[in-house]
Order: sequence, then structure tokens, then C-alpha cells
Amino acid sequence: MTDLSKQTTTTTRNTQPRIKRELSTVIAMIDIYCRSHHGRTTDLCTHCQELQSYALNRLLNCTYQENKPTCGNCPVHCYKPTMRREIIEVMRYSGPRMMLYHPYLAFRHLLDGRRTVKKLSRADSKKSITPGESKP
Ligand SMILES: [Zn+2]
Repeated sequence: MTDLSKQTTTTTRNTQPRIKRELSTVIAMIDIYCRSHHGRTTDLCTHCQELQSYALNRLLNCTYQENKPTCGNCPVHCYKPTMRREIIEVMRYSGPRMMLYHPYLAFRHLLDGRRTVKKLSRADSKKSITPGESKP
């Protein structure tokens, strides 16, 4: 049993391995997506740059930190609707391709996706986040 309340109180700004891995995954996914949809060659197009910095920002502020599930399994919907739609689109496209380009990350992501995560207690959710949509 992990105590999530501990994690939420320690606002660790230095990135933990779990989050670092998630950062690399999301960077790689947006990279793959932009390359095949926006004809990017070296840098991301401005649109994807925006999406990427938004996604990275959400990750760095993730309530779960080291206990983070993959974003697809997370009960906390921390993205604003427009960004959420876009990142879902990116992941839907790049997800299956990750095995090709970044097998290690894809594999780790698969494992991380099997984590189960406890919902934060009511007291915790009042502090920083809105509770997830799904009911227990
Ligand atoms: Zn792009």
C-alpha cells in the first residue's frame, strides 16, 4: 500500500525516473506524429511545439509522480479538453509505431500501463486536482 498523500505534499521539482521516462515517451510520440503529419524535418512545427511543452508541463506537475500510471490509465484528467483531444490523436497514431522507433520506451510504457493506481482520497483531491470522471 503506497501512501499517495505523501507524494502530493512533497512537491519534488527534480524529476523522478518514472516521470523522466514518461517525458521521453511523450517527446518521442509527438516527434513521430509531427514528422509524418506536418512534414517536419529537424524541429517540431510550432503547433506540435506548443502541444509538447503543454504535455511536459502537465507531466512535471503530475500529482502521482513516481506512482504515475500511464496517462491513458490515469483517473485524473489534468489536460484541458482541446489539448486532451490532440494528445489522444498523437498517441493513437504514434503508440503502435513506438515499438518500431523506440522499442525500449514502448516496452516500458507497456509495463507502466499495467500499474494500477489508487484514486486520491477526497482530502487530497480538494487540494490540487479535480476528481476523475469515472465512479468507483
Ligand atoms: Zn507538427
